[in-house]
Amino acid sequence: MSTIAENLRSIRSQLPSGVALTAVSKFHPVDALREAYDAGQRVFGESRLQELLPKIDAMPSDVQWHFIGHLQTNKVRSLVGRVALIESVDSERLLRLIDAESLRAGVVSRVLLQLHVAREETKFGLSPDELIDFFSRRAFESLRATHICGVMGMASNVDDPDRWRADFTAIRAAFDRCRQLGGSDLRGFDTVSMGMSHDFREAIACGSTQVRIGTDIFGERQY
Ligand SMILES: *Cc1c(COP(=O)(O)O)cnc(C)c1O
Repeated sequence: MSTIAENLRSIRSQLPSGVALTAVSKFHPVDALREAYDAGQRVFGESRLQELLPKIDAMPSDVQWHFIGHLQTNKVRSLVGRVALIESVDSERLLRLIDAESLRAGVVSRVLLQLHVAREETKFGLSPDELIDFFSRRAFESLRATHICGVMGMASNVDDPDRWRADFTAIRAAFDRCRQLGGSDLRGFDTVSMGMSHDFREAIACGSTQVRIGTDIFGERQY
C-alpha cells in the first residue's frame, strides 16, 4: 500500500500549474492529516462542522481549511472566521446569512457558490440559471463582508466519463458567463472548484482550477 506522501506526490505530478489541490480529510484521523501536512500539504477540506472544529485546534495554524459540506443555517455563526474558504454556499439565503454573521464577527468570508448540474435530485446547489440570474441582478454588490471567489460543483454520480465532461463543461460555462456579467466589479472571481478522486482528470480538461481529492490521498473512508 502506498503512503499518504506518495499519493500526494503522484497527484501533484498530474496537476497542471494553476490547478490547486484541496486534500479532503473528512472521516480521517488527525494522524493522517499530519502525514499530509508533513508532506507539504496546507489546504484541507472538511464537510462537517463537529469534525472540523477539533481538527482546527489539533493542526498547525498555517493550515487553510475549506468547508465543503452542506452548511445548516444554525451552524453559520460557529463557522465564520474559522476557515479560509466556504466552498458550499448552496442558496442565496445561506449567502446572506454568512454575510450578516461575518459582518457581525468583524471578518470577511471568502466563499464559492455551489452549482447543481448533476442528475441526482437530492444534491444541493444553485442551478446555472439561478446563478446567472444572481449575477445579472448584480446581487453580489450588496454583500458587505463576503467575497465570492468563484464556483464549486460536482459531476453526476454515474460511471460515465462523457456525463462528467458534460457536467463540468456546464459548470465552467456558467462560471464564464457570470464573470462576464460581473465585469471589472467582480474582482477575485477566479476559482472553479471541480474534480474528485475518480473524475479530476476530466474536470481539469474542462477548466477546473481547484480539485478536491480525498480517497486517492487518504484511502477509503471509514464511516
Ligand atoms: C468527500 C468529498 C470530496 C472528495 O471525494 P473523493 O472521492 O474521496 O476524492 C470532494 N468534494 C466534496 C464536496 C466531498 O464531499
